[in-house]
Amino acid sequence: MELRSNVPSGPIEQSWDKHKFELKLINPANKRKYNIIVVGSGLAGGAAAASLGELGYNVQCFCYQDSPRRAHSIAAQGGINAAKNYHNDGDSVFRLFYDTVKGGDFRAREGNVYRLAQVSVNIIDQCVAQGVPFAREYGGLLDNRSFGGAQVSRTFYARGQTGQQLLLGAYQALERQIGHGTVKMYPRMDMLDLIVVDGQARGIVTRSLYDGKIEVHVGDAVVLATGGYGNVFYLSTNAKGCNATAIWRAYRRGALFANPCFTQIHPTCIPVAGEYQSKLTLMSESLRNDGRIWVPKKPGDKRPPASIPENERDYYLERRYPSFGNLVPRDIASRAAKAECDAGHGVGESGLGVYLDFTDAIQRLGKHKIAERYGNLFEMYERITGEDPYKVPMRIYPASHYTMGGLWVDYNLMSTIPGLFVLGEANFSDHGANRLGASALMQGLADGYFIIPYTIGNYLATAKPAKVAADAPAAKEAVANAAAITKKLLNGNGKRTVDSFHRELGKIVWDYCGMARNEAGLKKALSLIPPLREEFWKNVRVLGANEEFNQSLEKAGRVADFFELAELMCLDALDRKESCGGHFREEYQTPEGEALRDDTNYSYVAAWGYQGQGRAPALTKESLTFNYVKPSQRSYK
Ligand SMILES: Cc1cc2nc3c(=O)[nH]c(=O)nc-3n(C[C@H](O)[C@H](O)[C@H](O)COP(=O)(O)OP(=O)(O)OC[C@H]3O[C@@H](n4cnc5c(N)ncnc54)[C@H](O)[C@@H]3O)c2cc1C
Repeated sequence: MELRSNVPSGPIEQSWDKHKFELKLINPANKRKYNIIVVGSGLAGGAAAASLGELGYNVQCFCYQDSPRRAHSIAAQGGINAAKNYHNDGDSVFRLFYDTVKGGDFRAREGNVYRLAQVSVNIIDQCVAQGVPFAREYGGLLDNRSFGGAQVSRTFYARGQTGQQLLLGAYQALERQIGHGTVKMYPRMDMLDLIVVDGQARGIVTRSLYDGKIEVHVGDAVVLATGGYGNVFYLSTNAKGCNATAIWRAYRRGALFANPCFTQIHPTCIPVAGEYQSKLTLMSESLRNDGRIWVPKKPGDKRPPASIPENERDYYLERRYPSFGNLVPRDIASRAAKAECDAGHGVGESGLGVYLDFTDAIQRLGKHKIAERYGNLFEMYERITGEDPYKVPMRIYPASHYTMGGLWVDYNLMSTIPGLFVLGEANFSDHGANRLGASALMQGLADGYFIIPYTIGNYLATAKPAKVAADAPAAKEAVANAAAITKKLLNGNGKRTVDSFHRELGKIVWDYCGMARNEAGLKKALSLIPPLREEFWKNVRVLGANEEFNQSLEKAGRVADFFELAELMCLDALDRKESCGGHFREEYQTPEGEALRDDTNYSYVAAWGYQGQGRAPALTKESLTFNYVKPSQRSYK
């Protein structure tokens, strides 16, 4: 298969405008004749469903929560990037584009990233018009702060609740369309399969989470905006429900999966506290604006932080990266924290932690100012750890947080299955091998508000999909497939809980395909996962029945998919014999311990295709070319 990115030719600054002009339109009176299925109502899906409804399409929108308002996007804390240059500190569309391509370690598509930077400015205007209460400066202008990998302040925020406020904006826009009748909302529905007819995506199979009823929904195009797969690690900052099922089942129907091994480990999370923990909590990157990261210089130093004098502390990020200091990108900050802990400098009971200290900032700005900026995050930290971060430095450690990998899409956000579009964290995204902070909200909203409304119209106008019946053979087959998986899970009658399998799988992926990877470890993971998966199917015990609200059953289906995805992640990581961004292969590093890319052999997107049960997936490569940002060894020194 040849992968065509469909990025328009010509000067990059004009590509999107030119493309928009060339895309075919559907006249307003005809839009209502098309049914569009949107799975997901987070920032990407909510924005898409609202915008498509506003345009006049008939939209059916699905989510597994009881309300679109509870999509995982609500958890986003720190902010959203946009090249507004309100601070007059040298920002521009080109600089945001440049920072993002460099931040992603030159493994993203230039055309897409440039468009993202361009559209970023529209997002802020749209959200302000919706009433999103962004923080403001004294004079009334929107305030900005800095995030990692940038030397300008371009991050717009609403205290530590930016995702929540943005989602409320998208939710209101969505509700408006639900009120107008252009969008029909289906909460508590789990997409279990994709219906493909004559090579085109034509519908989905869902299971009602209330009563287990399996249904077919057909449409003219399907949009997946189902979020990321960070929960494959079991412990992550993601909401417990986040899963890969929708994209994984689409992969099994022929959509290629790109860069599955590109996952993001976030440097500032509350460290693991015990064996029975099921979730990790993020402490937003925004805290690195004012917090200083340090460890004791002496390995094994167990004195309380206040008793460690200044000259016995190592502010290792400021020492190693004087230009960016505590605001180096996430992959670099995470690896540096791991290296300090591995060398015995870690703090806290487990030794897997470093300090994030606000003493200087409190002295400089006053407690009041710090509370104004990060109050809710400090409160959250204190509730979880019992320590007051105004008085004692926070203890933090890296944790799984975001997935740059996802379904492959072209410039139009269409997957390799015509008519299947993928938005937000679910696609392989514009972030290459490492996402810069505050760029996920930007991408999800860019995809939903500003890209899909154009590109889906062009698809419908050119493909002219014929009507498909809900009892078409492909739909029946997909229903039978979904029902069979559910039945198999319930009939297992084994002895182990779903969680015990998930925890064991997550540990394998974390140990061998986490912050650092090497050939021997990846091969070991690939030898451990298949027998564990086999045991899962033989020995898992799923309580309850299909015809009731059964979260154990929901979870079991998701973990079954994580087993297969975990294997693909390891295969991809093994195949990529270089280090780039969050994919750190220990064999490939510079003398200073930084990621060492191999642009001659690996400057491509790795897109994997399902070949059937028990058969190795096929790798297709999309080569990356860089005409505007010359690949170089990333330096934040
Ligand atoms: C704690 C935390 C803080 C973050 N802070 C920031 C930040 O400050 N700035 C930033 O840019 N990014 C941040 N991120 C990342 C960002 O929040 C996410 O990448 C982004 O919100 C994902 O949006 P989405 O719309 O793609 O997916 P989601 O918001 O995860 O939405 C997924 C939707 O798909 C639905 N869905 C999923 N599977 C199915 C299925 N099988 N059937 C039916 N429906 C399904 C869900 O119900 C939901 O509606 C943060 C992430 C975390 C975990």
